[in-house]
Amino acid sequence: MNKPEVKAYGTESAEAPLNQLTINRRTTTPHDVEIEISYCGVCHSDLHTVRNEWHSTVYPCVPGHEIVGKVVSLGNHVSKFKVGDLVGVGCLVDSCRECQYCKEGLEQYCEPGATQTYNSPDKHLGTQTYGGYSERIVVDESFVLRIPENLDLAATAPLLCAGITTYSPLRHWKVGPGMKVGIVGIGGLGHMGIKIAKAMGAHVVAFTTSESKFMEAKRLGADEVVLSKDAGQMAAYHGKLHFVLDAVSAQHDINAYLALLRVDGSLALVGAPELPLPVSAFSLIPARRSFAGSMIGGIAETQEMLDFCGKHHITSDIEMIDINQINEAYERLLKGDVKYRFVIDMKSLKSVW
Ligand code: NAP
Ligand code: ZN
Ligand code: ZN
Repeated sequence: MNKPEVKAYGTESAEAPLNQLTINRRTTTPHDVEIEISYCGVCHSDLHTVRNEWHSTVYPCVPGHEIVGKVVSLGNHVSKFKVGDLVGVGCLVDSCRECQYCKEGLEQYCEPGATQTYNSPDKHLGTQTYGGYSERIVVDESFVLRIPENLDLAATAPLLCAGITTYSPLRHWKVGPGMKVGIVGIGGLGHMGIKIAKAMGAHVVAFTTSESKFMEAKRLGADEVVLSKDAGQMAAYHGKLHFVLDAVSAQHDINAYLALLRVDGSLALVGAPELPLPVSAFSLIPARRSFAGSMIGGIAETQEMLDFCGKHHITSDIEMIDINQINEAYERLLKGDVKYRFVIDMKSLKSVW
């Protein structure tokens, strides 16, 4: 089978910086959409994976799962898209489509395991899947999303992961008017969590370790902001929140946030630090609290989130970078020094070659 070569940016090992790589994409099969990538968001999961912090990376690794671009060619059975459409691809590019979860639109929890956009076994090529830090990608139309026309394309890219990863748990735990919701960690995910929870009608309390974000969290939509390093400020919220979404990427004291929940409140973890987070029994027992997790969202729910964001004019606050700034961007991400999502202008890939 002919396997077209595509320019990409990735790495051969956990220690090496990202650099130019040539990868193969499959030729379009009847249900495939070929997309020229315009922009790709930079998720902290890209960094965790590139550096093998979750101990599951297969190299070479080409990250990127916040992909937006233009359809440039189609398989002959594609019915949902036409050449020239603006489309998105998030964290999933395939699943078994037969298990109970796939049938319910929960492809992210597919029993045999969904195919992630990068670092998953590629059913077509036999390699790993390669993500959006590249010129083009070929994806089955069932895993391609429509981008609302009223949204800025580059600022929409982060919705494909940061948007759905916050939208899905906020919907699952029925966040809405009358609820006080905490969003912890105001990074790429957290800042989307604030915007989406607010648009759902909740009273939003943002928790940040960064004094520089304290004033801005209100601009993002938070009703109240708490500097989480200040025990006095934290104590004022003990037992006050119905739901907490924790989007912190590193080790932190989860018990300090469980203490914020009312009786029967839930804390959903979306942040995925490398090491376990110790939970005290007494953070849960005395108030019948639940400690949960949530992973991205299914395809139908991702489209629902994009349409919701279109309706409410929600996009990400972004800082655009060229691909050759990606290693520096990772260092800044580790310091929490981005407001609030890096997005790579993929045009820059051609000029570094
Ligand atoms: P990010 O932009 O780097 O944001 C993480 C935020 O966490 C930072 O901005 C900072 O917020 C806070 N933080 C960082 N280090 C901290 C520390 N040592 N102590 C306390 N707070 C700290 O990352 P992201 O892209 O939003 O991703 C967040 C996490 O979610 C990552 O672990 C990522 O892998 C994971 N993720 C999970 C899913 C899923 O499906 N569950 C999907 C995507 C990403 P403040 O400055 O406000 O304190
Ligand atoms: Zn992500
Ligand atoms: Zn399945």
